[in-house]
Amino acid sequence: MTAGRLSRRAFIAAGSSFLACSALAMAQQERPRTRLVLLGTAGGPTPKAKAAAPAQAIVVGDRIYLVDCGDGVARQLALAKLPMRDLRAVFITHQHSDHNAGYGPLFLLGWAGGLSAPVDTYGAPPLVAMTKQLLDAYRYDIELRMRDEGRSPLAPLVRPHEITAAGEVFKDDRVRVTATLNDHPPIEHSFAYRFDTADRSIVISGDTRYSDNVIKLARGADVLVHEVVSREFWDRPGAPQPPAVVRHILASHTDAPDVGRVAAAAGVGTLVLSHFVPTEGPGAPTDEQWIAGARRHFKGKIVVAKDLLEL
Ligand SMILES: [Zn+2]
Ligand SMILES: [Zn+2]
Repeated sequence: MTAGRLSRRAFIAAGSSFLACSALAMAQQERPRTRLVLLGTAGGPTPKAKAAAPAQAIVVGDRIYLVDCGDGVARQLALAKLPMRDLRAVFITHQHSDHNAGYGPLFLLGWAGGLSAPVDTYGAPPLVAMTKQLLDAYRYDIELRMRDEGRSPLAPLVRPHEITAAGEVFKDDRVRVTATLNDHPPIEHSFAYRFDTADRSIVISGDTRYSDNVIKLARGADVLVHEVVSREFWDRPGAPQPPAVVRHILASHTDAPDVGRVAAAAGVGTLVLSHFVPTEGPGAPTDEQWIAGARRHFKGKIVVAKDLLEL
């Protein structure tokens, strides 16, 4: 082997390591920023004029990770300019209708709107049976469009996974998703989810009363999106729901001061109040009142969620 060939090899090696370093630097520079888009911020199953049903998108580059599928979530994604083709995974916090009524339509309508790669969905039982039964219910339209429009089958594009315990539920090269059991009686399997990405940590509380598990999950997170109820509003004669519903609201959700306590105990950077109960109507708290409740215990940044707000 000649000295000339050696130096040529050395030159190539040096060149390729330079290229590798540049590629790494570029990859670091181009690492996609994590966005949180609040798609629906109302609480409870009754359709609202002021806000859409619960849903949040965590977006990392061209991948969408969706938490909850309130009614109309497919349209909220369209309004947020988040394309269905980018949907990677769906996480349902619990099987109350305000959180899952848009699950079937998300796929039925998203199928026509560019969904082409399989989406993994996670949630408590009966997620697998629900998915199958919803697709059965839509069979006429699905088969019609396959015949008439040449579409490929929808069923292989939805991959449901049931979860019943805390722990890591999902991981890819952009995000790690961890679940904990929150406290939302009488539902046994109700979850909060934490998303850790290269640049951010975001926790979605789901529906819960004051929960030590949520505090543990949210420890040190950049953002905690937490549900909130007004105890003053519901704990009075003439509250606008039957007594059993009021009992559920007060026993299974968290009032604003307690949300502040959770955020302070977890040491999060920003607290986002969402899933307002009540969302609207006479006597519903103002933004300032929601903030004032949480502010009693939490000194960090507090945001009152609005549909389509991006953080
Ligand atoms: Zn709810
Ligand atoms: Zn609920």
